[in-house]
Amino acid sequence: MKIALIAHDKKKPEMIALCIRYKEILSKHELFATGTTGKLVSSATDLEIKRMKSGPLGGDQQIGSMIADKNLDLVIFLRDPLTAQPHEPDVNALLRLCDVTNTPLATNVASGEILLTALSNNEISKVH
Ligand code: PGA
Repeated sequence: MKIALIAHDKKKPEMIALCIRYKEILSKHELFATGTTGKLVSSATDLEIKRMKSGPLGGDQQIGSMIADKNLDLVIFLRDPLTAQPHEPDVNALLRLCDVTNTPLATNVASGEILLTALSNNEISKVH
């Protein structure tokens, strides 16, 4: 499966911790991330991750384009609901495209854990 990982700045520590906890299952899949998230997660876990541009510089749009093409199977986007983002339109577009294409999406750690646990248990099949 192709999995995208994105975390806003204040959520990056949670994303790193999540990826460390689920490193084994994540290592069996093809991982994509926005620039800074990918850099931090790969240096903390040694996971191989294809990095897009940083989110505010177009990375969210690049991931969004993959979602529009039904080229991602699962998205974990730990967004920060308490901080204004300069690229809010890109964030909203990405989330919307997940709904347009029925791509599984987690926007907080609790739901991310559920998706990754289901993935570990072979309970998620490709929707595209
Ligand atoms: P970043 O982008 O991983 O490059 O920080 C994430 C975002 O802000 O959308």
